[in-house]
Amino acid sequence: MKSILQGQKECYICGSRENLQSHHCFPGKNRKTSEENGFKVWLCLDHHTGGNYSVHGKDGKMLSLMLKKHCQLKFEETHTRGEFMSLIGRNYL
Ligand SMILES: [Zn+2]
Ligand SMILES: [Zn+2]
Repeated sequence: MKSILQGQKECYICGSRENLQSHHCFPGKNRKTSEENGFKVWLCLDHHTGGNYSVHGKDGKMLSLMLKKHCQLKFEETHTRGEFMSLIGRNYL
């Protein structure tokens, strides 16, 4: 399933088309759910794992949370809150 947030293959944060990696917005046990529902974005290396403020960096929690919120908002344009909760198990909005 392609991203529900992006039509273009470019970094979701900065628009770069270099060194792109696929980021699953809900990790761990929700990674598969993220794959199946398009809860993922392209990120450049810098915004994915490259520094403290990258989404996986030690100061990346706000960015990580923002991406989760964006996924939920987009999903709820066409689905209910209950459907999101049953997929991911919590509400981020
Ligand atoms: Zn970027
Ligand atoms: Zn990632």
